[in-house]
Amino acid sequence: MARYTGPVCRLCRREGIKLYLKGERCYSEKCGVDKRPFPPGQHGQGRKKSSEYGMQLREKQKARRFYGVMEKQFERYFEEAARHSGVTGENLLAILESRLDNVVHRIGLGASRAEARQIVRHGHILVNGRRVDIPSYLLRPGDVVAVAEKSAGLTRIKELLEAAASKTIPQWLEFDAEKAQAKVLRKPVRDEIDTPVAEQMIVEHYSR
Ligand code: SF4
Repeated sequence: MARYTGPVCRLCRREGIKLYLKGERCYSEKCGVDKRPFPPGQHGQGRKKSSEYGMQLREKQKARRFYGVMEKQFERYFEEAARHSGVTGENLLAILESRLDNVVHRIGLGASRAEARQIVRHGHILVNGRRVDIPSYLLRPGDVVAVAEKSAGLTRIKELLEAAASKTIPQWLEFDAEKAQAKVLRKPVRDEIDTPVAEQMIVEHYSR
């Protein structure tokens, strides 16, 4: 269950866009993209426009980093998306959205996907009444995600639940902050996914 452990603001600066990997800091004046709006590294400010391949690669990396997924797993998601009927790029985003850590973040139980991932890993989340501590667990329509009873009293979880009550939840999810539980109503459609990537370019990248 590998994950990236390096500096995350560097990832946003590399992609030239806010990926919201640090929670509250991303909305403050300390945001790395706002402070240094150019790619990291010695030649960051001197880089020229990239090739078509380079642009496709960047879209893939951006999506991967946004969801905190490693290369191999991302490839597996792409293969699965290509096997399903419909538009491959949209299938890919729907799969990424249905990860447990993403859903926990979407309902507000984690200021960032990294925090949501940690909440899952620490066993604070139940799926259909059973503890699931695998952040990559893929949820299906009808699944119910809830905070474990013992965890609901933890200070950070209480803070997140209070903030979550006023958060806008995507329409494919239903969230009851009082019960600290959410239900997956259906698979998300593209319009309901605000991920800032051009998924068609990711498909082109893997089709080369
Ligand atoms: Fe990205 Fe957040 Fe860092 Fe800004 S503060 S660069 S959005 S991770």
